[in-house]
Amino acid sequence: MSSQPLRIALLPGDGIGPEVTAEAVNVLNAVGQRFGHSFEFGTGLIGGCAIDETGTALPPDTVDLCRASDAVLLGAVGGPKWDNPTAAVRPEQGLLGIRKALGLFANLRPVKLAPALLEASTLKPEVLAGVDLLVVRELTGGIYFGPRQEATADDPTAFDTMLYTQPEIEQVTRLAAAAARGRSGRLASVDKANVLASSRLWRRVVTEVVRAEFPDVELEHVLVDAMAMHLIRRPSAYDVVLAENLFGDILTDEASMLAGSMGLLPSASLGTDLNGHGHPRGLYEPIHGSAPDIAGKGVANPLAAILSAAMLLRHSLGMENEAQAVERAVESVLADGLRTGDIAWGAKEILGTVEMGAAVVSRLTAIN
Ligand code: NAD
Repeated sequence: MSSQPLRIALLPGDGIGPEVTAEAVNVLNAVGQRFGHSFEFGTGLIGGCAIDETGTALPPDTVDLCRASDAVLLGAVGGPKWDNPTAAVRPEQGLLGIRKALGLFANLRPVKLAPALLEASTLKPEVLAGVDLLVVRELTGGIYFGPRQEATADDPTAFDTMLYTQPEIEQVTRLAAAAARGRSGRLASVDKANVLASSRLWRRVVTEVVRAEFPDVELEHVLVDAMAMHLIRRPSAYDVVLAENLFGDILTDEASMLAGSMGLLPSASLGTDLNGHGHPRGLYEPIHGSAPDIAGKGVANPLAAILSAAMLLRHSLGMENEAQAVERAVESVLADGLRTGDIAWGAKEILGTVEMGAAVVSRLTAIN
């Protein structure tokens, strides 16, 4: 039994967020029972539901809850009720706000294909065999945050600026190189150094950090346009892929399609802030949104949320064995042909959200 309490902040959010988060909590409780840990959960508002109740997408209570927790598990935010890009208060402000409040500068998206689902992708199974990627995206710098100008009637000129500083590149490089060291030791850094000044700085700083601090990591630089091709042509050639914010945004969506469904892919956002256990206080969430078209129907796939909980165990609580147990339980369920509607290929049985969560819990308790 862990001596210190293991505090997890739950931000279920909107749409299917609460449905899939509930299943991830059941899985965490099953992990607790099997491995002798006791998780304490606190729930906060974020996104549309927070706007309805408090008038803001990220109430101060939610930020306090997250800061007092060891890790944050988030469902999804948004939906048609709040879909108004010109509104002053919008659900996604909750997401950007909590990332900023917790200093989360790197987003990690693993893309690993369950063998049982090779057929579910639009790519050929032989191209996908062996894919086990981790894309690390810089999250708080670059063109989304650089100086910009909107066009006006008087001046129909608009610009955005891709701006990076050396420390911003150093911190995300360290995180990606450490991840590569813990895996195959290979790191591919993405840039557009043949054209962009910010990419030339990116390439120089990545090279210097890896050479000085991670000499055992094998570093390769890949132009972003080439990487866009390689990801669909020979995705198994890469292990850890590091990219700045905009390139990473696009490449992570491309990489997620390798797996066939958004309902399967987890993500972690990490910073330098450490929790009471000496690990990063990360935020973990499925990559999918609030799926308003299926919300409340009990059919959402909870596996991305459950795999996000596995990442939480690994990165924020240092529980590698527990994380792998959850991942094996998910693989076992899929290998047995249990599916939700979004991954119906090869299904022996189509399950609802709650049944799929229960199937993972039962494997977790049964397998070693
Ligand atoms: P979405 O990911 O919510 O849904 C896209 C499609 O995938 C839908 O057909 C949906 O039914 C399906 N889908 C998604 N998750 C699924 C799951 N777990 N199981 C089964 N099917 C699943 O993306 P969208 O429709 O573009 O956006 C809907 C809302 O979510 C919008 O308001 C958007 O702003 C918001 N959004 C939030 C996040 C987030 O919270 N991180 C991310 C993306 C979109």
